[in-house]
Amino acid sequence: MTGSDPGDFLGVDAELTVDERDIRDAVRQFAEVELTPHVAEWYENATLPARDLAKAFGRLGVLGMHLSGYGCAGSSAVAYGIACRELEAVDSGLRSFVSVQGSLAMYAIHRYGSEEQKQRWLPPLASGEAIGCFGLTEPDAGSDPASMRTRARRDGTDWVLDGTKMWITNGTVADVAVVWAQTDEGVRGFVVPTDAPGFSAHEITRKLSLRASLTAELVFDGVRLPSDAVLPGVTGLRGPLSCLNEARFGIVFGAVGAARTCYETALEYTTTRTQFGAPLAAYQLTQRKLADLVVEVNRAGLVALRLGRLKDAGELHHSQVSFGKLANVRAALDVARTARSMLGANGISLEYPVMRHAANLETVLTYEGTEEMHALSVGQAVTGIPAFRVNT
Ligand code: FAD
Repeated sequence: MTGSDPGDFLGVDAELTVDERDIRDAVRQFAEVELTPHVAEWYENATLPARDLAKAFGRLGVLGMHLSGYGCAGSSAVAYGIACRELEAVDSGLRSFVSVQGSLAMYAIHRYGSEEQKQRWLPPLASGEAIGCFGLTEPDAGSDPASMRTRARRDGTDWVLDGTKMWITNGTVADVAVVWAQTDEGVRGFVVPTDAPGFSAHEITRKLSLRASLTAELVFDGVRLPSDAVLPGVTGLRGPLSCLNEARFGIVFGAVGAARTCYETALEYTTTRTQFGAPLAAYQLTQRKLADLVVEVNRAGLVALRLGRLKDAGELHHSQVSFGKLANVRAALDVARTARSMLGANGISLEYPVMRHAANLETVLTYEGTEEMHALSVGQAVTGIPAFRVNT
């Protein structure tokens, strides 16, 4: 294996096209210069220079990069995934920023919006001049969004929106929120400017995970919206679920990045730290752990690339995305925890990235569909029997 990249043991990146490799290199270089030097501080202070970051991500071209037109790059799904991988190699919160903007807010408008909504919002969201968020989860409706209580009712030609959304990434800094609500016609999506009277966003503090990401409760208190605020292209939960599927796809790749960073940190640490007169890496128990990490990181990378190629061919089924999210986030979490142990006391410090990644991955395991929901999705795919509800 002389000359091989220990982080890419199977040479998975050799399968990338030239364009995909160029995007990898550009995002990796951006991350090294603009993100890595600051991320521990952002995490420790639970803050993020969201406006500046949005514009920097816009200049890099990663916001809605897999969409076409309206200032979006129109790149392949694999290229988008690779960008997510390189961002999440720094921090899951930074990949979340790009996922929520591109795969949730922008995708919803791009796929289901009117021409006016697209013209109004997509170019500034792609450039990072505007920030978007996506409100589906509520205090009493998480895995089961069908039980949402947020409601939009018609009043003349207007809509009036009432309710609360919880755990909304970028909610406090967003210019526009894509909000899902019950209506007499079923669940509909609404494009809500955050300066609308009756809208308020409240930061959720005391998070122990995804601290380099802003999370909010959104309150809609009689928010009056014009008739054309509704997304015309979809009715029912199919709308938000299709958007989540896009974001989950990014997570399948992103988790590989987080795992790779943890593995590389453990490799570097154990080859340089000496105990009992030899580098930690010289001990068989350490090599066993390193071998496990290499296997997990590379297997996850292969899963991501396979799903990416299926998506680019238009053949990716949502249960396969569930497979990928389930497998890769679980693998990344295992890698992060093992790497943490290999760094001993230093493993718990923000001087090293492993504990930060491990803590972040607890959120990644839960959001965009929990581990259990994706297990049920795969279970349904292989048995034909849905087991999401108790039969009463
Ligand atoms: P619950 O649904 O209450 O689940 C609790 C536990 O019960 C889980 O383990 C779950 O798997 C299990 N469970 C539930 N139902 C079943 C079942 N039928 N069978 C077996 N087990 C079950 N949401 C947004 O809309 N927009 C965002 O931008 C956003 N950002 C987020 C950012 C962060 C930092 C976090 C932590 C969450 C974010 N979320 C967002 C919310 C996230 O998507 C939800 O937390 C997630 O869907 C789970 O919902 P819940 O937390 O209400 O858990």
